[in-house]
Amino acid sequence: MADEKEQLRYDPAAIEQKWQERWAADPKLYAAEPATSEKPKYYVLEMLPYPSGQLHMGHVRNYAIGDALARQMWMRGYNVLHPMGWDAFGLPAENAALKNNTPPREWTRSNIAAMKRQFNRLGMGFDWATEVTTCMPDYYRWNQWFFLRMYEKGLAYRKKSKVNWCPECATVLANEQVVEGCCWRHEDTKVEQRDLVQWFLRITAYAQELLDGLDKLDGWPEKVRTMQRNWIGRSEGTEVDFFLAEKADKGPGAREQGTEKTRIRVFTTRVDTIFGATSVQLAPEHPLVKAFTAEDADLKSKVDELLEQQKTAREAGDLGAIDKHGVATGRFAMNPYNGEQVPIWVANYILMDYGTGAIMSVPAHDGRDFEFAMKYGIEIRRVIKPLTEGEGSDALPFISEDGVLVNSGEYDGLTCVQAQMKLQEVATRGQFGEEKIIFRLKDWGVSRQRYWGTPIPMIHCERDGLVPVPDEQLPVILPEEIEITQQGGSPLARVPEFVNTTCPKCGGPARRETDTMDTFVDSSWYFYRYTDAKNSSAPFGRERAEYWFPIDQYIGGVEHAILHLIYSRFWTKVMRDLDLIKNDEPVGRLFTQGMVIKDGAKMSKSKGNVVSPDDMVSRYGADSARMYSLFAAPPDRDLDWQEDGVAGVSRFLSRVWRIVTKYAPAARTGAPRSGVLDVSNSGTNKGTRLLRKLHQTIAKITQDFEGRWHFNTDVAAIMELVNEMQDADARLAAGEIPAPVVHELLRNLVLLLAPFAPFLAAELWEVMGEKGAILRAPWPKSDPELAKEDEIEIPVQINGKLIAVVRVAAGADPKTIEAAALANEKVRERTSGKNVVKVIVVPGRAVNLVVK
Ligand SMILES: [Zn+2]
Ligand SMILES: [Zn+2]
Repeated sequence: MADEKEQLRYDPAAIEQKWQERWAADPKLYAAEPATSEKPKYYVLEMLPYPSGQLHMGHVRNYAIGDALARQMWMRGYNVLHPMGWDAFGLPAENAALKNNTPPREWTRSNIAAMKRQFNRLGMGFDWATEVTTCMPDYYRWNQWFFLRMYEKGLAYRKKSKVNWCPECATVLANEQVVEGCCWRHEDTKVEQRDLVQWFLRITAYAQELLDGLDKLDGWPEKVRTMQRNWIGRSEGTEVDFFLAEKADKGPGAREQGTEKTRIRVFTTRVDTIFGATSVQLAPEHPLVKAFTAEDADLKSKVDELLEQQKTAREAGDLGAIDKHGVATGRFAMNPYNGEQVPIWVANYILMDYGTGAIMSVPAHDGRDFEFAMKYGIEIRRVIKPLTEGEGSDALPFISEDGVLVNSGEYDGLTCVQAQMKLQEVATRGQFGEEKIIFRLKDWGVSRQRYWGTPIPMIHCERDGLVPVPDEQLPVILPEEIEITQQGGSPLARVPEFVNTTCPKCGGPARRETDTMDTFVDSSWYFYRYTDAKNSSAPFGRERAEYWFPIDQYIGGVEHAILHLIYSRFWTKVMRDLDLIKNDEPVGRLFTQGMVIKDGAKMSKSKGNVVSPDDMVSRYGADSARMYSLFAAPPDRDLDWQEDGVAGVSRFLSRVWRIVTKYAPAARTGAPRSGVLDVSNSGTNKGTRLLRKLHQTIAKITQDFEGRWHFNTDVAAIMELVNEMQDADARLAAGEIPAPVVHELLRNLVLLLAPFAPFLAAELWEVMGEKGAILRAPWPKSDPELAKEDEIEIPVQINGKLIAVVRVAAGADPKTIEAAALANEKVRERTSGKNVVKVIVVPGRAVNLVVK
């Protein structure tokens, strides 16, 4: 019997190696069919990884979710596109080059090869024929092509701007890459502010559309839509001009005609409170402040101090919590509505790059202004009173818009909303203001002073200025030979063969732009390239994109809610306006999975709590590692990694292996010719309980794939099914359960396992004597008759007299039985208009109603 024992041992290493080889030899297995396919299309995509050289458990979880879905959709008969690629530009390659003296290209390539091996070892069903590697010229030339199209449309431009500078990276960071004042890659490096001429993409031109589009994205998590709404940050309000009083010698509250010469434009969302404005406040960098300080050294040093505080707070990433300081300039501004002169202050919490860099301060009706006025003794004047007066209604600040105006001259008595409209109208007519919508969203700074990125395809000519690289000269290739040093500035600037070029316009000597693009450019449109990865004449063919888009299901981490997921929506709208595509949102449904944590913290090298997928795979097998990552928590929640759990899943798969291999020979004799179990004909009642459990499990998992994705409970349901089969082991062994039922049980168990444990499922499929790939076998259908619980009859008595008999599922709870009794027609006839005083349910036996 040694042979039998041997046969019964589950050996994931052997099974998984065998199938990995078979799948590698059959690249068509995971290939998408062309758009002419008669099957409905399904595009499932997980966010592409950065090729660090090593998958981590967060990856395994992300890709196990997507792969389970892709496999189930294949089995459901869809034409599935499930591609993978590499977000291959970026800083770590340069850091590695410094550290190991390996060129970034080589380092990246060998990492990609290593991670591809891991992916294949894990059995991920990717269509490698459509692989995209963003650091390859055949990909990044299209970044350059898009950049040129945006330049032509005025969507790419250069301006001098204050930038976040990481001294460690020696490059510019986007605001989103500054985390609590430090670099996102260098958690301990403080980000500095610098002035640089930078390239920008005009994402603000699409601000309103990006905001409106969110309403349509009902397949996105609400939290992601909220994050994007906040990031775009739309405010409706009014811009109003105060006028600089050139020689004011009167204190606050004085009414005097100001000069019309110098306007100070302020933005406010509450123009209805303007009669309560008791000062105007300017950002330290406001141009007017420069004029004031030019003739006042004392003021200048105070303003410099405020600016310094602002910088520090900005670098700390926490402007909201800044300690509020200000300085009075000794100047006055005239309120255009009543001619009143109010003092002009400079304050450290007013930003030049938000609104107009100037505000009117209304302490009675704004919390921040109130705090500032209390501190500096500025007048607080109430101009809004609540609609309903009550206890505490005279407290200040009063921030609500539910009020009417007081102390506001001819506007007294108007509601806040009426006053906003009226005052806006007056400003427009008087040409001292207008309705204004402003956004918090800023244009996207894409310049990086780095080597390992897409070269910006522009040329600087002394005669012609900025000259775009002509399309036929694309791609502008990154030079291979380069010395990476820690000197500041772009490494490309130190490669004369790259920098020195010929002006396409005048043919004279010229210099190439040496900035490269932010790597978020690469990931903004990569998923379009998957549909046509080999296209050398266009970024992608229109028909293919139209067939596959929008992505049916996109899966990735919530940390991309505002970076990647806003940039790629912007990019899609630009592509629509370039007439490359019709759709204007790339992603139909979005799923954000939780993190993998261990010992209470996110797995990270610095915390030393990283679990290696290779280690898990070599000890327990890829199926166990994948299945555990789906089983241990609902996919949208954080997963607390427990190695015991992986071992447990491995033991479970061993049980599956034993049962299926043990009874496969019996099952094969019961295989129905039609492929479908003939319930009426085979004495199947002996297996009813097992069949019921099976069909209930099929129904549950099928439904779950449609929406909730509680794969953890799906795996648990399969475990319960296997437990019941084990409980029936004696009857199975004795041949008491008919072969057709055994066949139905085993075959469907294997099919249900296929999305979660693809290696074992493929092996057992073969053990069952099935031909062809399990991926092409139809997903099982639940038979509602078989899934139905047995019914029993329960008599219903009213006041002791038998009135009706109702049918309920065996084991139904008292509530269900009561509801069934009360719903019965005869019972309703006798109780209508009467008072049901009491309902006594004897579960499984009877229902007694006391009626008066
Ligand atoms: Zn850094
Ligand atoms: Zn020129």
